[in-house]
Amino acid sequence: MFKSIRWKITIIFVLLVLVAEILIGFFNLIGVASHYHREFSNSIDKVFTEEIKNDLLAAANEITVPTIQEGDLSTVIQESSLNNISMINDILASHSGSLGITASRFYCIIDGSLGNVIQSSDGTTNVEKTPSLTEALNGTESRETRINKMYMDYAFPLMNGDTVKYVVYVKDNCHQQNAVTKALIDILLVSLVLSLVISLIFGTIISKSITVPIQQLALHARKLADGDITALQKSDSKDEIGNLTNSLIQLAQTRKISSEQAMGEKIKVETILQNMNDGILAFDMKGNLIHYNRESKKLLKRRYFDDIKFDRFFKEINAGITLGDLLYMQPEGSVEREVKLSNQYLRLNFATFKMDNKIGGIIVVIHDITKQEKLEKSRRDFVANVSHELRTPLTTIKSYSETLADMPDVDRELQVRFLDVIASESDRMARIISDLLTLSELDENQTYIKTPEKIDVRKMLESIVERMSLTAKKKNQKLTYRPTNEVPVIMGDYDVLERAIINVVSNALKYTSDGGEIKVYSSKVYNDICIKVVDNGIGIQEDKLPHIFDRFYRVDKARSRDTGGTGLGLAIAKQSLESSFGGKIKISSEFHKGTEVTITIPCKQ
Ligand code: ADP
Repeated sequence: MFKSIRWKITIIFVLLVLVAEILIGFFNLIGVASHYHREFSNSIDKVFTEEIKNDLLAAANEITVPTIQEGDLSTVIQESSLNNISMINDILASHSGSLGITASRFYCIIDGSLGNVIQSSDGTTNVEKTPSLTEALNGTESRETRINKMYMDYAFPLMNGDTVKYVVYVKDNCHQQNAVTKALIDILLVSLVLSLVISLIFGTIISKSITVPIQQLALHARKLADGDITALQKSDSKDEIGNLTNSLIQLAQTRKISSEQAMGEKIKVETILQNMNDGILAFDMKGNLIHYNRESKKLLKRRYFDDIKFDRFFKEINAGITLGDLLYMQPEGSVEREVKLSNQYLRLNFATFKMDNKIGGIIVVIHDITKQEKLEKSRRDFVANVSHELRTPLTTIKSYSETLADMPDVDRELQVRFLDVIASESDRMARIISDLLTLSELDENQTYIKTPEKIDVRKMLESIVERMSLTAKKKNQKLTYRPTNEVPVIMGDYDVLERAIINVVSNALKYTSDGGEIKVYSSKVYNDICIKVVDNGIGIQEDKLPHIFDRFYRVDKARSRDTGGTGLGLAIAKQSLESSFGGKIKISSEFHKGTEVTITIPCKQ
């Protein structure tokens, strides 16, 4: 409680009043005492002038002759000295008013040889032998007027030659001074208590008048700190608190502007971070995660990021990096790592960031490189596939031609068979190269764009089915066309669509056993033309379906090769339909039961 400014001010105020009161009392008491002592000294100086001293001396030494000379000499002397004392007393009594003789002050005449009181103003018979009295008895006038003594006195020796006959002694017991001092102390004590109470009340009021505005200011400052800028009203007061209030308002306004700017910047950065395609993680120097964006959660496939610690997390995903490596070995620049999370490839870039000119932590930028990786892989696979596909017929051609060369006497029939094989392998190579060229043109978007022509899909399908019926007949297969409803005429590249459909129908024929059935449907569904080729052939395993449109992918390589397939037909069909018609091709199949290929072409070309 006493730590508050309010109490401190009150206590200081009370203490000041107390000190002032004590000082006043002290000086009052000193004043009273010195007044009495001064008054005593003045009285003595005033009464005991040289003239009166001489009178006293004369009175002490005058020899009086008694009028009736009776008795012996001692009686005569005794009577004479009584006269002397009486005269001294008369002189003193005549000045008792000036000497201020009261109940506390008296004078007396003391016998110089015996030291006893002969006569006194108040009947005193015995006096204390003070230093002044002792000195006077030894013949020296003396007085005591120091205020630290509890009495004041004056002793004047009345000499008779060299001997002290009498001593005139005036003493003040300071009873009056003490009574006044006591009364003064009582008054001082009462006034002290009163002034204490009054100073406590005033101290509280004054301290309140200072501290209440400060308390309010502190309260408003706290609200300001919490962002409530309206908490403070501009003060018209010109005192220190008024100035402080206005300075605080100014400070708060400046702070608000800069914090708004900082907030704006923060929101901007936050928006950029949240909408980045890359994931961002930020760690402090202890390895605690301090910031992350949405993308990082997605890329790292984590719903929560609460318990992430740098070293543990990057060990978990096999990034092969620790906080120590980055902070102490690579404080500048960045470090790159690639990791694989399930079927996703991620590139992680680690860099330190600075705060107050010191390294403040680590920023990790996560980039999804799955597409690049897949592209790279498919490029490698493609090169390997092309080499393989071309090497196989080349090897056959080479071995057959070498055999022919080595056997000049071989009969004509065998020669023709060998040459047939060489020719068919050459055709195969030609087909592969032709397909590759088509794909390459499609990749480069270099296909010759013909002026769109009218395509009557129904007629096209009838013609294809008719042409391929011959091949179907050879395998005892039943190939039929079943238009479901009327399909509109569309505009586009006739050859592209025909090639894609022929490819799908010929696959159905190739991969359906003898006696099987192939049905071709056409229909208009909403704004799309739907062409379906359904067979009851060998079907495709479910796990192979996702790869069916990949280049050179064949479910059964041997069977495909035997039937003259290149593994490029569906890839070409998909790419050409997409680029020339904005169409789609889908395949669904049940192993050993059959396959259904659906081509969808939007009517609006
Ligand atoms: P290919 O020239 O080998 O036929 P495609 O790209 O046309 O190449 O077809 C890819 C693979 O898809 C084929 O090798 C075959 O294994 C499979 N496939 C395509 N159509 C069918 C179908 N109707 N029935 C069963 N398998 C099929």
